[in-house]
Amino acid sequence: MSSYVLVLNCGSSSIKFAIVAVNNGESILSGLAENLGSDNSTLKISHAKTSTSYSLPANCKHESALSSINNILNEYQDLKQKVVAIGHRVVHGGEIFTQATLIDDEVKAAIKNTSHMAPLHNPANLSGIESAQLAFPALQHVAVFDTAFFQTMPKHAYLYALPYELYKTHGIRRYGFHGSSHEFVSTKAAELLNQPLEVSNLITAHLGNGCSITAINQGKAIDTSLGLTPLEGLVMGTRCGDLDPSIPTYMQETLGYSASKVNDLLNKSSGLLGISELSNDCRLLEEQSKNGNELAQLALEIFCYRLAKYIASYMVASGPLDALVFTGGIGENSSFIRQRTIAMLSTLNFSINEQLNEKMRFGHAGFVQQEASHKIIVIPTNEEWVIANKAAKLTLASGEQ
Ligand code: ADP
Repeated sequence: MSSYVLVLNCGSSSIKFAIVAVNNGESILSGLAENLGSDNSTLKISHAKTSTSYSLPANCKHESALSSINNILNEYQDLKQKVVAIGHRVVHGGEIFTQATLIDDEVKAAIKNTSHMAPLHNPANLSGIESAQLAFPALQHVAVFDTAFFQTMPKHAYLYALPYELYKTHGIRRYGFHGSSHEFVSTKAAELLNQPLEVSNLITAHLGNGCSITAINQGKAIDTSLGLTPLEGLVMGTRCGDLDPSIPTYMQETLGYSASKVNDLLNKSSGLLGISELSNDCRLLEEQSKNGNELAQLALEIFCYRLAKYIASYMVASGPLDALVFTGGIGENSSFIRQRTIAMLSTLNFSINEQLNEKMRFGHAGFVQQEASHKIIVIPTNEEWVIANKAAKLTLASGEQ
């Protein structure tokens, strides 16, 4: 009998969830509770190609939303009975968590102690955990950290050239995020290359609203573009990625912006949205770019140029490259972004096969390079499956002790 895991991703005002089959990663039922804490909280559940909307109590927070979700799941009793564990996505695990872990009081305290490094995410993740433990007391709860996959990075990759004291005393270093996605696509890439992951050298580019790129040497993450927070590196939907580090202080001291205004500007009104003055949505920018919108064209060009530079530089870290992998909403679907980025890398022996590139979209996985090129693979990600797998394994192992 196949087992299932309820995967939860709790944000400050939302809960994204899915019941995932452990054997094949299929999401059998999924749902989204939104606008929690307001008077128009909503809950939508999709199952077997139908979507049902439910109302939630006014001002409902994680605790009552998860209790409502638990009650509604009684309508899917057959499925609910097969859920063996709950897997929680936790954004920041600091240096403490190098892998997924069963949640106990000590783990909750450690997640709390890491909250200063992810103030928008960890407190919400923790509140979700505590509420889910109340709603589903009979199940084991497992925390799967976005940062854990990158704990194999060497010191020369994760340290900034800042006074060492800041690392020792305050933990200021590169942590990386989107770990479950990079882990999933690197495992899949090794399968498609027909070789063990442990001997695979890869560069994996996760391009969604948030974007990150990871260098993998002999199956282990060796460098990644997101840093202490998920702001560094590539151009993203609304986040700026790399900058001259003096720009934020320049905005504060010369332009008189407050620290929180600068923080908002860098996180919420920069990236594709900031440059295009139009949207953070890559699809819309591609459309407008074709219609001659110059700022849309510029935003996409800057996005691809930054990505190409990172791919080139990560060839230093990965070692002799077995494959470059594209994933995430943009990486999986935008043949334009892939083609333009690869064109910029032609001197490094990358070239794309246009027909294959057009074919690998909307859920298709496969190779898209020309024969003489480094291998380039498109792989739809499945972060929920990684979380479900880890939660099921740990739960099973704890039952066997
Ligand atoms: P998130 O990081 O929120 O999970 P996704 O991985 O879903 O985001 O990626 C969202 C991005 O993917 C958006 O910029 C969207 O425009 C882009 N995207 C989705 N489908 C396409 C497509 N067919 N062509 C180009 N971009 C696409």
